[in-house]
Amino acid sequence: MNSDLSRSCDVLVCGGGVAGTMAAVAAARSGARVILAERYGFLGGNATAGAVAQFNSWQTGRGRKVIAGLADEVVQRLRRLGAAADHQVFVMSTGHKMDRVEYAPEVLKLVLDDMVSEAGVEPLLHAQLLGVDCEGRQVTSVRMLTKSGVMAVKPRVLIDASGDLDALRQAGCRFLPLAQGESLQPATMMFRFGPMDFDRFDSIPQADVKALAQRGFESGALSRAALHASRNPYSDDAWFNISRLSVDATNAMALGQAEIQGRRQAWLAAAYLQAHVPGCEAGRLQAFATQVGIRETRRAEGEHILTAQELMAPVAFDDAIAAGAYPIDIHPAHGGDLIYRAMDDDHAYQIPYRSLIPTRLDNAYVVGRGISADHEALAAIRVMTISMAVGQAAGTAAAMACQSSGAVSPRSVDIRALRHSLIQDGALLA
Ligand SMILES: Cc1cc2nc3c(=O)[nH]c(=O)nc-3n(C[C@H](O)[C@H](O)[C@H](O)COP(=O)(O)OP(=O)(O)OC[C@H]3O[C@@H](n4cnc5c(N)ncnc54)[C@H](O)[C@@H]3O)c2cc1C
Repeated sequence: MNSDLSRSCDVLVCGGGVAGTMAAVAAARSGARVILAERYGFLGGNATAGAVAQFNSWQTGRGRKVIAGLADEVVQRLRRLGAAADHQVFVMSTGHKMDRVEYAPEVLKLVLDDMVSEAGVEPLLHAQLLGVDCEGRQVTSVRMLTKSGVMAVKPRVLIDASGDLDALRQAGCRFLPLAQGESLQPATMMFRFGPMDFDRFDSIPQADVKALAQRGFESGALSRAALHASRNPYSDDAWFNISRLSVDATNAMALGQAEIQGRRQAWLAAAYLQAHVPGCEAGRLQAFATQVGIRETRRAEGEHILTAQELMAPVAFDDAIAAGAYPIDIHPAHGGDLIYRAMDDDHAYQIPYRSLIPTRLDNAYVVGRGISADHEALAAIRVMTISMAVGQAAGTAAAMACQSSGAVSPRSVDIRALRHSLIQDGALLA
C-alpha cells in the first residue's frame, strides 16, 4: 500500500448523511481533528441523495420545541439561501398531523459543504469503506477505497454514520435481530414532479385526497395509498414520497433491483398524478432521487437498547443526549398503509448516550438510523431532526474523549459535562 495514502486524525466519521455531518461539525468545533469520509461526492445521504425534502418533527403536538442546536442552524442557513420553507404544522395525505420544514435537497448539499469547511473538517469524498482493522476492542485503522487508491485512516475514535453500519460490521460488531413478525421498513424512490399548481393541490379536501390515494393504490398505479409531497421551495415542483420497495439494502443484488423497480414505480405514479390529481395536470416527472431512500437496515447492539416502551412511557434518562417527539411510524414492507402510534399532546422522549456505544468496541460510536434501538423505537427516532441531534451529541462527546492523552474511552466521558456542553451549544435534551 502507498504509505502517502495513510492519514491520522482524532475522529473519523464514516458516512456523511445528516447524522455524520453534524457529528463531524460538532467534533471539529469542539477542537478535534476530524476526517469525514463519504462514498458520494456530496454530503447529506437520505437528505440529499435520497431527496427526502422535509425535516419532520421539531416539536411536541402542543408546540413545545424539542430539537434545536445544529439542526436549527442547518435550517437557518438554508433559509438564507431561500431554500427552506417556514415551519409548518400540517395534515399528511394519510390523515396524520405532523410538523415539518420543507427544503431544497440540492441546496442542502451546499449548506453542508459550508458547515464542514468552516468547522475545519477534512472531507474525504468519493471514498467507499473497504475494511476496518482492530486490535482487540480498539479500532486501529479504517481502509477507504478512493480515486487515489486505498487510504488507511488511523483514528482515535470512529463514528459509524453510514446508516447501514458498514464500519461496525467490518469491525465484527453485533447487530440487533428483528423480532418475530417484524420486517425491515421498505425503501422509497423519491421523485420530483412539476410544475404543480399548489393552490389547487393544497385545497383538495382531505377525504378526496384519501380517496384518490386509495384508488391509485387499488389500480396498481401507486405502490402505497398516499399522495405525500414536499414542496421544493426553490421551484414549482414537489418531491413525492409514494413508492414502496421491500428490500434489504445490505444485499447488493437486491439493492440494484430496488433502484430499477423504484424508478418504474415512480414513473407509473407520475402518470397517475398527471391524469387524476388536481393541481398536477401540467406536471411531469422531472427527476429521480440519486438513490433509493433507505429507512432501515442494521441496528447496532449498544450499551443500552432503546425500546418503544421507553419512548411511550417516556423514560427520563440520566445520560440523555437528545430528545424527540416523532411518532412510531412504521411503513410495512407490503401493502399500502402505515402503522402509526401518535404521541400524546405534549409527549416527548429522550435518547440515552449509551445507545450510541457499540458493545464490542472501546473507541467507537454509532449515530443516525442505526443506533441501538428496537425496531419500533427506531421507527420514531430515525427522522432527520433527531438524527442531527444525535450526531451533534456523538461528535461533541468524541471530541471530549479525545481531550485526554492516551487511549480514548467513550464510556468514561463525563456525562454531566457533555450534557452541559450540548446545552451551551443550543441543543435540547428534553
Ligand atoms: C423515503 C424516506 C422518507 C423519509 N421521510 C422523512 C421525512 O419526511 N422527514 C424526516 O425527518 N425523515 C425522513 N426519513 C428518515 C431520514 O431521512 C433518515 O432516517 C435519515 O436521513 C438518516 O440519516 P443518517 O445520516 O443516519 O443516514 P443516511 O442518510 O443513510 O446517511 C448515510 C451516509 O453514509 C454514506 N455511506 C453509506 N455506506 C457507506 C460506505 N460503505 N462507505 C462510505 N460512505 C457510506 C451514504 O452515502 C450516506 O451519505 C425518511 C427516510 C426515507 C428513506
